[in-house]
Amino acid sequence: MRKVYMDNGATTQVDEQVLEAMLPFYRELFGNPSSLHSFGREVKKALEEAREKAALAINARPEEIYFTSGGTEADNLAVQGVARALKKKGNHIITSAVEHHAVLDVCKAMEEEGFKVTFLPVDEYGMVSPEAFREAVTEETILASIMLANNEVGTLQPIEEISAITREKGIVLHTDAVQAIGNIPVDVGQLGVDLLSLAAHKFNGPKGVGALYVRRGTQVNKVTYGGGQEKKVRPGTENIPGIVGLGKAIELATADVPGKAAHLTFLRDKLIQGLMKIGDVKLNGHPEKRLPGNANLSFAFVEGESLLLSLDMKGVAASSGSACTSGSLEPSHVLLAMGMPHETAHGSLRFSLGKYNTEEDVDYVLEVLPEIVERLRSMSPVARRGKQG
Ligand SMILES: *Cc1c(COP(=O)(O)O)cnc(C)c1O
Repeated sequence: MRKVYMDNGATTQVDEQVLEAMLPFYRELFGNPSSLHSFGREVKKALEEAREKAALAINARPEEIYFTSGGTEADNLAVQGVARALKKKGNHIITSAVEHHAVLDVCKAMEEEGFKVTFLPVDEYGMVSPEAFREAVTEETILASIMLANNEVGTLQPIEEISAITREKGIVLHTDAVQAIGNIPVDVGQLGVDLLSLAAHKFNGPKGVGALYVRRGTQVNKVTYGGGQEKKVRPGTENIPGIVGLGKAIELATADVPGKAAHLTFLRDKLIQGLMKIGDVKLNGHPEKRLPGNANLSFAFVEGESLLLSLDMKGVAASSGSACTSGSLEPSHVLLAMGMPHETAHGSLRFSLGKYNTEEDVDYVLEVLPEIVERLRSMSPVARRGKQG
């Protein structure tokens, strides 16, 4: 059976070149980069080279890159670290209702520490309004965290317009760019952000490693205590093979963003157009301002989980809602924040394309999915009632 992986928003396949770059650091190059002897020094050199690659990819300086255990830790460090560092200046944080749980839940935890948090609503496309952002700002606002690209519906947020406001008001701005790296251009200067999170496994790197960009001069308190690694902001012996893999992966992922985006956009649009022909199918997220590889669709009268399982039996991997929330019966918080009724949210599927997807993959999905939808709808009493009324 043909196997088609269209769940690149959950994770991606490690590039062979990335794996090759990592292997020596599991073998002979095993030293601790903090050691002063030759074993440590050669590893320290690789650590700093990876930092330079990560910095170059987002137009930052190497000393502004802090390696973490992934996107989740980078988001936690950004929100907790900045909020606590600036506690004396104010107690208000602004975020959006459609953030990844790594931001959303840490913001909720900050409320318990006494911070006030505004969870900005979004429009039907999942977009935050810069005007609403401006209106939410108070004298107490110290930090904002608004994602660059949404992991579920692919909507791109107007970060440049938001950073114009945060700069004017002296507010620190963090963005979760985990889904953006390699898919759209990411330049911290142009975006005007002060902190930015990224995770290697979302751009064909290894799992369990990420980074937080912190603009020079931005105060961040540590959230873990220990040694002096990562300028004391993120102590603990570094995941050297992972970091080397992140460096190689980000170099490859950002070498030709327009080329990769064009490939993904072509496949995505073919997939969307083909699936819309089924009928009673709606595209979720912004029609244009979206990730090139994201196609999130709602299929009326069917359950997303049923579609997912039927697709899986045909060798196709997609996702319903986000990987983190699937398995729970609550529909996606992102789709609900976009004003979607519960039933429609339940019938949603996300296809997230990656660099290894081909046109044949898309053709295969277009071959198998219409039959699956038809079969499930024929069994659904809701569909029959819907058709009558
Ligand atoms: C995957 C993801 C995360 C979490 O990253 P991990 O490396 O899995 O911890 C955070 N934010 C977004 C937008 C993501 O897509």
